[in-house]
Amino acid sequence: MIQPPFDLKKIKPGEFKYFSRRLLTNKEGEETGSIIVWKRGGDDDHSYAMECPYCQEEGKGTVDLKKRPYRVRCPNCNRSIALKKLKDT
Ligand SMILES: [Zn+2]
Repeated sequence: MIQPPFDLKKIKPGEFKYFSRRLLTNKEGEETGSIIVWKRGGDDDHSYAMECPYCQEEGKGTVDLKKRPYRVRCPNCNRSIALKKLKDT
């Protein structure tokens, strides 16, 4: 399970507008990866940190959550990974 690039214990209440962590499945439906998506107050974009379910490499960047289905492209293997059932927190 991928860890966020910040200390969850040091987050102040209200600092994050959005935070979601979920498992990612590969082609065979196995949960071999995970992703964290978050947005801080004042940020324009959602950021993510991901362990790719296909190549197991970790990557991070920003993701556009305005259009469904939400997709993130792995910077290492270039596969497009769909994020299902993301919910606002
Ligand atoms: Zn990959």
